[in-house]
Amino acid sequence: MLSWVSDWTLPDVEGMHHMARETCDVLIAGAGVIGVAIARELRRRYGVKVVVLEKESTAGRHASGRNSGVLHAGVYYKAGTLKARLCVEGNRRLRAYCRQQAIPLNEHGKVIVARTEAELPALRELYARSQANGVRASLLDQQALKEVEPCAKTVQQALYVQDTAVVNPQRVMAAMVADAEREGVEFRFGCAWQGRESDGAARTDRGRVTYGHFVNCGGLFADRIAHAHEVGLHFAILPFRGQFYQLRPGSALQVRGNIYPVPDLRNPFLGVHFTRRPEGDVTIGPSALPLLGREQYRGLTGATIGGTVTMLAYLMRLFGRNRDHFRSIAWTEMIKLTRAGFFREAADLGRGFEKADLLPGQAPGIRAQLVDTRTAELVSDFVIEPGVRSTHVLNAVSPAFTSSLPFAEHVVDTMRLA
Ligand SMILES: Cc1cc2nc3c(=O)[nH]c(=O)nc-3n(C[C@H](O)[C@H](O)[C@H](O)COP(=O)(O)OP(=O)(O)OC[C@H]3O[C@@H](n4cnc5c(N)ncnc54)[C@H](O)[C@@H]3O)c2cc1C
Repeated sequence: MLSWVSDWTLPDVEGMHHMARETCDVLIAGAGVIGVAIARELRRRYGVKVVVLEKESTAGRHASGRNSGVLHAGVYYKAGTLKARLCVEGNRRLRAYCRQQAIPLNEHGKVIVARTEAELPALRELYARSQANGVRASLLDQQALKEVEPCAKTVQQALYVQDTAVVNPQRVMAAMVADAEREGVEFRFGCAWQGRESDGAARTDRGRVTYGHFVNCGGLFADRIAHAHEVGLHFAILPFRGQFYQLRPGSALQVRGNIYPVPDLRNPFLGVHFTRRPEGDVTIGPSALPLLGREQYRGLTGATIGGTVTMLAYLMRLFGRNRDHFRSIAWTEMIKLTRAGFFREAADLGRGFEKADLLPGQAPGIRAQLVDTRTAELVSDFVIEPGVRSTHVLNAVSPAFTSSLPFAEHVVDTMRLA
């Protein structure tokens, strides 16, 4: 047993006997890729009793099972940021994990193409960042681009990134959960963290859980869980829905790996892109629509009145300040709500693409984007905040899926285990 695991006793409170009680060394809320990876790392490192609470009936029902499945190589992020370091290593480690688990990968890499001359400085900036991060990437002229992605279109130059790969994220989640269970991590599915009791124990919808340390990996709800621990009070999560289409299999546009646009580097999102999944289908997306409800996967389903009021207040502030180019994000995303607008967004990335090639795509995913409420800015880097006997993962946005293995090691390194 570790020294930081307190020798707790359960109070024998009248009326509590009908509730289940549980004790563990580390309690984790959320079985997304981050919660599962941290649970495995804690087990591997310390051999302690780790319990993961997940409100859904299985793991990876939210962002971790509903993303693009792109294992990013690390070209976008400024050198020295957590994202840069953990993504580059995460890409290498997750590809190795997939090979070891016989999970299929598409390893045709990706090209980032310029749609206008005005995008060329940002393309060169991405090349510079890739070099600073030690990522294998090269600038191609149009002829060389044809050899890599025959249908991709660009103005003058494109950036070719060899190590970008694509995986089915649900297969990764299933493998990681199976490994975690074999290694002794205990999952409580269909069990939601509901609050923190005055003595620090967790209240769940199945009873009380006492623990030595608590790790918050609650994704779209991570801010609320942190606030209950008096942590990250100036942060809030703003949900952005990513909608996908699928490329009609007979389309004249052929995609081998990934075709991405040059993103607006002031925004946290990478733009609508073409991605060939290992199963062979090509996804087009995702959009990034700010939402009123955290799990608003369709229309207004998932929006609550309280949540809507809070989200509207943040949206108004972001809009008012025009921070992070928020007005242009919101505007371009509204356009993508229509099929015609979505088509226009992707049309200039490749030859032979037609509106009729847009078929309904995979289930949408929702990004848990952190906002600093003091400045109304969208936070770009990963955020991990310590609390009393607790650790809170607050901005596990893309590329956190790619980065999950070293991300988990980093979180465990930063835990205050006194
Ligand atoms: C559309 C989209 C595309 C993306 N594309 C990529 C990509 O190509 N590459 C990449 O690297 N990343 C990508 N990402 C980002 C990536 O999916 C996330 O960074 C990652 O999945 C975050 O994992 P997580 O475990 O923090 O969150 P989640 O997967 O959301 O897990 C959080 C879990 O906590 C549970 N939970 C919440 N509240 C409670 C509670 N009270 N009690 C118990 N359980 C609770 C939820 O049910 C959920 O299962 C994308 C994300 C989206 C949305």
